[in-house]
Amino acid sequence: VPDTPSTEAVDNIADTRKVPAELIAREVARRRTFGIISHPDAGKTTLTEKLLLFSGAIQLAGTVKARKSGRHATSDWMEIEKQRGISVASSVMQFEYRDHVVNLLDTPGHQDFSEDTYRVLTAVDSALMVIDAAKGVEEQTIKLLNVCRMRATPILTFMNKMDRETRDPLELLDEVESVLKIQCAPVTWPIGMGKNFRGVYHLLRDEILLFKAGSERADQEFEVVKGIDNPRLSEMFPLEIEQLKMEVELVHGASHPFDLEAFLAGTQTPVFFGSAINNFGVREILNALLDWAPAPRPRDASVRAVTPVEAPFSGFVFKIQANMDPAHRDRIAFLRVCSGRFERGMKVKHLRLNREIKVSSVVTFMASSREQVEEAFAGDIIGLPNHGNMQIGDSFSEGEQLQFTGIPYFAPDFFRMVRIRNPLKIKQLHKGLQQLGEEGAVQVFKPVHGGDLILGAVGVLQFEVVASRLLNEYGVDAVFEGTSISSARWISSDDKKALADFERSSAGANVAYDAANNMAYLATSGVNLKLTQERWPQLTFHATREHA
Ligand code: GDP
Repeated sequence: VPDTPSTEAVDNIADTRKVPAELIAREVARRRTFGIISHPDAGKTTLTEKLLLFSGAIQLAGTVKARKSGRHATSDWMEIEKQRGISVASSVMQFEYRDHVVNLLDTPGHQDFSEDTYRVLTAVDSALMVIDAAKGVEEQTIKLLNVCRMRATPILTFMNKMDRETRDPLELLDEVESVLKIQCAPVTWPIGMGKNFRGVYHLLRDEILLFKAGSERADQEFEVVKGIDNPRLSEMFPLEIEQLKMEVELVHGASHPFDLEAFLAGTQTPVFFGSAINNFGVREILNALLDWAPAPRPRDASVRAVTPVEAPFSGFVFKIQANMDPAHRDRIAFLRVCSGRFERGMKVKHLRLNREIKVSSVVTFMASSREQVEEAFAGDIIGLPNHGNMQIGDSFSEGEQLQFTGIPYFAPDFFRMVRIRNPLKIKQLHKGLQQLGEEGAVQVFKPVHGGDLILGAVGVLQFEVVASRLLNEYGVDAVFEGTSISSARWISSDDKKALADFERSSAGANVAYDAANNMAYLATSGVNLKLTQERWPQLTFHATREHA
């Protein structure tokens, strides 16, 4: 057990660096930290590029594309991961706009959809939901929105691809409300669609923004016409403007006016229409983010809530990214700053290990490159290189014993049994899986009966990454096989006897322990899970569990 540094030593750290409260308050107020949630192909990459264009980080537009094009095959993805910098830099992007500091956290989708995707959402203060207006609400959008809901994260909505034939806008809103169970407040409204897309009407400002295709420029000014009754409009497109007037009447009658409080509470989403590829409607989104989305908010740290403006530094790790370079094996822990000012070279306390560390090497994520950070404030993400001693959920402070909460594990949707070709490597296998499990790359379950370990993931790519890393980093050639398991639930109960009985019963064949030694039930089907729950009313079955 490491020594506990005396509180006197801790006081000294704080004493040497007096940070003016106004400075911290100002820096916090101008920060916005958000992520984009969307189903693959809705336009997240395109929109990210356009957002970065506004910050002047034009060179990154290529970087985002480069990463995207590598996504088609896993092997390419691994190659790209190896080119350190690219994926790390594009997983967090910081840029300035209108005297604000915007942190955009990438939430990988599609094949690289994994637990990371979920955990990143615990580090944002708001989210931008991008929907392909031709397709409406899709599967991944639903999953990600449900994660946002756990923390009542405020959501902005962008209906993309209005330059194509899309679904009826009113129907889209209706779908968002009924499927995602969130109230819609349209802020802009489309005028036509596809070939006849003329622009959007800003419902709050009574202005029409005229559409022009093909903008590669950030400072593109779209022409604005004031007033829906402006005679110029009926000259330009008489048909669409009549349609618009009808729709606007309907919208005013049938939908909700924008309500900042409801947005901040996560119960209402302001909706914008546009076309990311044409950079149309993107500025409106960015402005809404700065004007309406919250600055960093207080965070629960078990013993108390930590406010962003308090002077001592604190933060938590929400993601670990391995470098994939077998020669170095260094990892970057992504830490979200929750309070105070972080300065390079300062001493911070790694609370789980109860150890003070001097942080001299730390990376920040400016949109164009990976840079050394000099200072950071609440809402910012900093990257701490380490050799595996930092884990997801770890809290850091200047000494106070805090434990930030709300970094969940999600019940996996996919399962594999793991075997090895060379039995002599069993120790390495267990060590590798233990570490990869701690890192959050995959969930590892050890059945009470039977020796084969079971891996669980929320995205199948996680298995490929784990297989490749076991081989490269631990020299273990593992084979993954399908299992009959369809879902997992963590089990808890105040009734210790019931837990023991459960393990000994016939259901015990499906009981396993995860890497943190929590009891779980691995169900073979939805029916099996339902029956087991009914048979064991003294037990609680959880679909998520918080980081210990
Ligand atoms: P992601 O998978 O969500 O990152 O989606 P991408 O940004 O890669 O976009 C998927 C496809 O949709 C690409 O071929 C884009 O060029 C296209 N796309 C994105 N935005 C628009 C848009 O506003 N209009 C049209 N017509 N296509 C778009």
